[in-house]
Amino acid sequence: MTETRKLYQEMGIQKEVLDFCLHIESDLSERFVQIDQRAESNQLKVIKAMQDNRVSDIHFAATTGYGYNDLGRDTLEDVYSSIFHTEAALVRPNLISGTHALHIALSSNLRPGDELLSPVGKPYDTLEEVIGIRESVGSLKEYGVTYRQVDLLADGNFDYPGIAQALNEKTKLVTIQRSKGYATRPTLSVDQIGELIHFIKKIKPEVICMVDNCYGEFVETIEPTDVGADMAVGSLIKNPGGGLAPIGGYIAGKKECIERAAYRLSAPGLGREVGASLGLNTSFYQGLFLAPTVVAGALKGAVFAANIYERLGFLVVPNGKEERHDIIQAITFGTPEGVIAFCEGIQAAAPVDSFVTPEPWDMPGYDAPVIMAAGAFVQGASIELSADAPIKPPYAVYFQGGLTWYHAKLGIITTLQKLTEKGIISAENLLKSL
Ligand SMILES: *Cc1c(COP(=O)(O)O)cnc(C)c1O
Repeated sequence: MTETRKLYQEMGIQKEVLDFCLHIESDLSERFVQIDQRAESNQLKVIKAMQDNRVSDIHFAATTGYGYNDLGRDTLEDVYSSIFHTEAALVRPNLISGTHALHIALSSNLRPGDELLSPVGKPYDTLEEVIGIRESVGSLKEYGVTYRQVDLLADGNFDYPGIAQALNEKTKLVTIQRSKGYATRPTLSVDQIGELIHFIKKIKPEVICMVDNCYGEFVETIEPTDVGADMAVGSLIKNPGGGLAPIGGYIAGKKECIERAAYRLSAPGLGREVGASLGLNTSFYQGLFLAPTVVAGALKGAVFAANIYERLGFLVVPNGKEERHDIIQAITFGTPEGVIAFCEGIQAAAPVDSFVTPEPWDMPGYDAPVIMAAGAFVQGASIELSADAPIKPPYAVYFQGGLTWYHAKLGIITTLQKLTEKGIISAENLLKSL
């Protein structure tokens, strides 16, 4: 321990900050055991899926050009199907992001005249343009797909009467976002999603239920496709890529939904048969193999931060004790200085670009300056330790990720160090608040 302490000190962490954080950590052992147990279950699920599909080193070979007979690509999709317990999956480097995967899943399964329903309130920002909630060239709206939304009730529960009323003869697809994303509503558990799907299918059995699974993979031991979802969709530079996938997205689900998605991604008539994997298969397999442990590290970081900042009197969502359903942690500092100091700490603790200072800037598409901290191996990978915040009330920062628990821990300790250095939190108060 003395060697470790010495290193923390050499990395600029003062004694009071370290003692406070280690004290908080010592109270979390039960939580961490529960997180490790889930990771173990998910690790076994992933290994079994690879064994059942006879993954072999031939699958790591690269294909080029059309990518006909890309065994590695096809087998990887079978592995995803085994993990998600679905008939099929599309797992591709040319699904270039989560938004793109969601766009393909939606635009391929909806036709002009159909209606899309979100029964869980406003979807993730980037989907507003995909759907056409915000006018955008090429949106579903331009193609004659209408959109309806039922907000969650004030207490976070589903508005069942409202949902029943919104389902109509045009409703073709229901989109359910698992993670709160950057909103203040609670994240949905897989069980809650199952209840919602059950309710919807009782009214309209043929409706397609799609779950935006971003940030949720491997947080629980079951996935939305285990509770009735027809499609689960996500990004490989978040949880299931395990930090190694340099790009990619996935859609796992019913065969006919996945086939429509494949015909949309490539071309009618071509579908899943084409698409060279260009040597990326090894990272996809190995990242998936590591994903359960990586997600566990990120979850420990989120729980650690929630408990530190809750103890210091800040509003944290989820709170320190709550069950987790995604890897995102929100902390409300109430001042721009607090948010900026936090982001500086995350940046300073990164393995890459630790020497740069993040600053708020006017990002296109946002109504306030945004600050982002990330020192990632893969650009924008939010399974790596990263934080961002719009500089506007209530001055909340959202952070997520950490490829290892020890990095997440250093990052969070460094945020507290920065807040202390700037006088936002006093060192004496740290020890008093224990
Ligand atoms: C990240 C995210 C997306 C979009 O993914 P990108 O890869 O950033 O395009 C969509 N929905 C949710 C809930 C997300 O967290």
